Amino acid sequence: MSPLYLLFLGPAGSGKGTQAEKILETFGLCHLSTGDILRGAIRKETLLGKKAESYVEAGDLVPDSLIIDLIKETLTPDRIEKGFLFDGFPRTLEQGEKLKELLLDLGISLTHIFYFDISLEKTISRIAGRRICVDCNKIYHIDYNPPKTCGEDCSGNFIQRSDDTEEKVRHRYDVFEEQTVPLLSFYGEDLLSIDADLTPDEIHRELCLAIEGTKV
Ligand code: ADP
Repeated sequence: MSPLYLLFLGPAGSGKGTQAEKILETFGLCHLSTGDILRGAIRKETLLGKKAESYVEAGDLVPDSLIIDLIKETLTPDRIEKGFLFDGFPRTLEQGEKLKELLLDLGISLTHIFYFDISLEKTISRIAGRRICVDCNKIYHIDYNPPKTCGEDCSGNFIQRSDDTEEKVRHRYDVFEEQTVPLLSFYGEDLLSIDADLTPDEIHRELCLAIEGTKV
């Protein structure tokens, strides 16, 4: 069976991260989440973290050059062999074009590109209750999926992301519309649109159907 190379596009709060967890488990893929990588770098105060921090805090996009270098590092032979899921990348046309070149050089192409379609108001209500495990990045919701100890190495420290305030979520939605929406026509007919207002289980079923139904 050839490896899966998936891509999730969608605004903050559209459920990409929650679905990513389930899909990685179901299909045994590597998670390439630029948001998680950046937050980890900021926490560890690496050079990348220091350069990215002010952008992430403000809800703005980190410059393309930094993101592209980060992606080049993540596309290692073992991940290519195993298959992967891009979550939160690409987010600009330039990143999309660069990714196309990188994949072409590697002789691979994306197998499924999903767009999580959702309204701004819905994302705001979801994000207000979002909590994240600082150790493994697992996502919880105070009402729908209350935080609980997730793994042996997890300390039980759940935080609200500093960019998860309503004001910043509104700003991130504007940034999404301005800078990421152009990617929808860039991917055109290859894009599979998902109604992100459905329940997590329903969305998971739709994703599995699309992946298993068209896998080569
Ligand atoms: P969300 O989908 O909830 O906005 P992410 O975890 O994907 O959250 O991203 C959080 C922040 O990290 C973004 O607001 C942005 O500052 C930065 N970021 C993540 N991915 C990218 C990217 N591909 N290009 C530029 N900035 C990014």
